[in-house]
Amino acid sequence: MSGRLPYLNSRLQGLGTTIFAAMSALAESTGAINLGQGFPDYDGPSEVLEAARRAIGEGHNQYPPGRGIAPLRRAIAEHQRRFYGLEFDPDREVLVTAGATEAMAAAVLALCEVGDEVLLFEPYYDAYPAVAAMAGATHKVVPLRPPDWTFDEADLAAAVTPRTRLVVVNSPHNPTGRVFGRDELAAIARLCTAHDLLAVTDEVYEHLVFEGEHLPLAGFEGMRDRTVTISSAGKTFSVTGWKIGWVCASPPLLGAVQTAKQYLTYAGGTPFQHAVAAGLALPDARIAAVGNDLRARRDRLCGGLRAVGLEVLEPESGYFALTDIASIGETDATAFCLAAPERCGVVAIPTHVFFDDVDRARTLVRWAFCKSTATLDEALRRLEALGRD
Ligand code: PMP
Ligand code: GLN
Repeated sequence: MSGRLPYLNSRLQGLGTTIFAAMSALAESTGAINLGQGFPDYDGPSEVLEAARRAIGEGHNQYPPGRGIAPLRRAIAEHQRRFYGLEFDPDREVLVTAGATEAMAAAVLALCEVGDEVLLFEPYYDAYPAVAAMAGATHKVVPLRPPDWTFDEADLAAAVTPRTRLVVVNSPHNPTGRVFGRDELAAIARLCTAHDLLAVTDEVYEHLVFEGEHLPLAGFEGMRDRTVTISSAGKTFSVTGWKIGWVCASPPLLGAVQTAKQYLTYAGGTPFQHAVAAGLALPDARIAAVGNDLRARRDRLCGGLRAVGLEVLEPESGYFALTDIASIGETDATAFCLAAPERCGVVAIPTHVFFDDVDRARTLVRWAFCKSTATLDEALRRLEALGRD
């Protein structure tokens, strides 16, 4: 998906079209079932959808304040208190963004100097190295190793150099579904405090946890004022197209991130901000229901993938299951995924885009299970063709 583009800034050369957009386009053009890009094909809580309609009807259709509407900033602060016991001042420590993606870009652009290094756990979400490159920073990786996808504390320590500025921590994790445990997060916190590093967390799957418990890094010793906590509403309320995200951070960090953010989108999504404020005020059981429902979809897809002979790495959270296609005699995930629409009418994601060391991705394919039962069952029925080739 890359190739040199004549007009493109040299920092961005090679980034190409994101694999998610490319594979969704392939699904569209071939009519294949799209288990690639992570978006639900069903609606989230009706109260949240209704609140968006109401907000439009009530005329909430102009620019919101740069930091986001006050009711949403209060709802985000209240959410952090209610679920994690973390206190943030909604007026000085909360910023609403155009999804977690803009929050991450604004944070990295704001906090890195040219030549700084950003630490990423590999596999990493594809946006992180891209925004580091936009900032003129470089990235270094700390491998998460299968089958548990944990990291070695010695690898983490060895990755730090005098140029290291920040660590990006994505838990619950895309694409492995790992939920980092208390010991892992404590190790990251020790590293950050020992080397005076900042942390930027991506917690977009915080409410889609099937095993274990999501713990925000900001709650660990010494991290409250050196962590930029990022999340968004897309996954929690099954509204990925709304692009309402947020940042919680101490005032000096938040001010830095806001400075970058205001020149990216300035602000946006006014009626959706109202709806997400209503969503965050839903009772615990309503919020948990989205994750509980997804657990059943995970089990359905993982069971079906196993039945066609794929080795499945069972995810603890999120939207995706990784499989090792070596178990069905395949040797190249990219070739497999490009051929899959024709071979069996299904699109999945080859995982090289999540790795620096693409060898580690050679036979790993990611499948989305945030789909209706009918979609999952039809995809699994089509995948039976794999066993017959
Ligand atoms: N971070 C991770 C780890 C993701 O998987 C995604 C994609 N859904 C995002 C960020 C993007 O979030 P948003 O749609 O809120 O920008
Ligand atoms: N986060 C989604 C995924 O991992 C994709 C969002 C996007 O296309 N950037 O599939």
